[in-house]
Amino acid sequence: MPDPITRVRIAPSPTGPLHIGTARTALFNYLHARHVGGTFILRLEDTDVTRSTLEFEKDILDGLHWLGLAWDEGPEVAGEPARGPHAPYRQMERLPTYAAAAQRLLADGLAYPCYCTPEELDADRKAQEAARQPPRYVGRCAKLTPEERLAREAEGRRGALRFRVGEGLVAFDDIVRGHVEFDVSNLGGDFVIVRADGNPLYHFTVVVDDAAMEVTDVIRGEDHLSNTPKHILLFRALGYDVPRFAHLPLILNPDRTKMSKRKSQTAIDAYINEGFIPEALVNYLALLGWSTGTEEEVLSLDEIVERFDIGEVHKGGAVFDRERLEWLNGQWIRRLSADDLIDRLRPFIGKELDAGLIEQMPSDEELRALLPVIQERLPTLGAIGDLAGFLWVADVDPDPAVLVPKRWDAPTTIEGLGAARATIATVGDVVFEADELEPPLRALAEARGWKAGDLFMAIRVAVTGRTATPPLFDTLVALGRDRTLARLDRAIAVLAGS
Ligand code: GLU
Repeated sequence: MPDPITRVRIAPSPTGPLHIGTARTALFNYLHARHVGGTFILRLEDTDVTRSTLEFEKDILDGLHWLGLAWDEGPEVAGEPARGPHAPYRQMERLPTYAAAAQRLLADGLAYPCYCTPEELDADRKAQEAARQPPRYVGRCAKLTPEERLAREAEGRRGALRFRVGEGLVAFDDIVRGHVEFDVSNLGGDFVIVRADGNPLYHFTVVVDDAAMEVTDVIRGEDHLSNTPKHILLFRALGYDVPRFAHLPLILNPDRTKMSKRKSQTAIDAYINEGFIPEALVNYLALLGWSTGTEEEVLSLDEIVERFDIGEVHKGGAVFDRERLEWLNGQWIRRLSADDLIDRLRPFIGKELDAGLIEQMPSDEELRALLPVIQERLPTLGAIGDLAGFLWVADVDPDPAVLVPKRWDAPTTIEGLGAARATIATVGDVVFEADELEPPLRALAEARGWKAGDLFMAIRVAVTGRTATPPLFDTLVALGRDRTLARLDRAIAVLAGS
């Protein structure tokens, strides 16, 4: 049943590039909205003015677009007007809304101006540390009389606005984590919602906006769980309905520490630059904290939308497994049509060219002929250089130490490559095909008492400079007869001269 009432949001702060955790949170919000037929909102939380930049904002929006996570309501981007009834969608353009809400809390006595100086607060913190108490606001300004406030204002002090947290328990039923309770006395005391300079802070703006945008389900990372009681108190104080909450499990490194940008590759950009494709990344991100419950793992965004149930998200941390991501990426690369794959490979081949790792750009025809042997061997688009770059250089320079197979010595290798050259030379240009090349080369190895694997490895290194390549005979065909023979000659010369 479509549920037009459900409204969810992703609310990134443009203080860094799109992070894998934010992308996963955006995806789960998108999946829930699409699954139930609700609305997916994008809001930019840019109130940290010193750390927010337009470059980061662009990186985040571009990254979400690239992943295919289109929002129904959100800010103006790329010349498009803002979409949705609650514009603007950047918090710094919504300051009057927060000011009005702050006035209400002040008028109701639910918030109060705090004139404590940084030095006073610092001294409080140190005394608490010395007494081994957790840090909390001591409440110095909580009970000032109107006269005392006026006196401080007269001294030129500007008050920050603190929210009164009160006492008791805050409880809620988290969609992922079940029943959760917090004792208000552990929240660190009354907290600042608007700074003395008038800048509203995250806990406050997030609540005012979630209410204004009629968000029904707040789906976000577990790192926000401890913020939720503060938010619930604010929703109640402002007389708003409290939304449902779903806190998604943290994304962990294989050693089960939290995945952070200092220790791990967390920027989506870095994955894009390596040649992960969006089909695979959204598929992988969906499996970070959710599973199909079946063996099926390779699913399109639409297939995931159909199956996704926010109530089935796991509680435990989700370990980021790079190998599985690469495997999935390979699976998705295999599913691309030839034209599509060629289009997507071009920029990566271009990068090889720019870096001087190859000397010429292959034509579409050349690439198309190669796809049957490389398509299922590409874990990423960026692996194209390693896999096939030897085709787009004039010569390779095989390392003599690598040219000689383990069970062989240099004279045997020279002899083997010479014999292979003579055998390959008997295969004419027109019939230069894998099934014309393989039988005579196998027969050669057998006649000489060589292990075919040794002979083939020596040929492979001679013509590609590498030990891992597409299948040998396909590789020779892709190189063509003349280049194959020339590279064999060169390798023999290299060995003879070493
Ligand atoms: N701006 C917050 C963040 O980027 C949003 C948290 C939330 O979803 O409430 O972490």
